[in-house]
Amino acid sequence: MTGVVPKDDGAAVSLEDLRQKMVDFAKERDWEKYHSPRNLLLALVGEVGELSECFQWKGEVPKGLPDWKEEEKEHLGEELSDVLLYLIQLSHYCGIDLGKAALRKVHLNAIKHPVSRYIKNNNPEENKKFVDEKITNQDNNNSNGVTENLQSQ
Ligand SMILES: [Mg+2]
Repeated sequence: MTGVVPKDDGAAVSLEDLRQKMVDFAKERDWEKYHSPRNLLLALVGEVGELSECFQWKGEVPKGLPDWKEEEKEHLGEELSDVLLYLIQLSHYCGIDLGKAALRKVHLNAIKHPVSRYIKNNNPEENKKFVDEKITNQDNNNSNGVTENLQSQ
């Protein structure tokens, strides 16, 4: 590996590609001995902290981050990557197929949150009112069902 950063667009990269690259990376450096699930989890949490710092003190930011400088976005990409790569490694050393587990979780979420619960029809205003009413009714019943579901997404 050279010091030149590859310019691949990454469009076709898979979780398996990344997993294999990280396994090879660790093997080449004899770092596998440090890669216990606990150590990887703690490293992941540390990287989530670094990712959080990218947003710290900025207040709410619009989607797409239109006001961010290119260097800030590049740094954000690095921190997002650190989180992803540690998550992939953690999954690997726990014997979890992350892609398979994630697809299963998307399926379970679709069952838990059926579209019909949140979308009444094609009118966005009516849908917002529909969801707001459901949340209000749930709050009035002292149940956190829908509210909790919406907040956990
Ligand atoms: Mg980092």
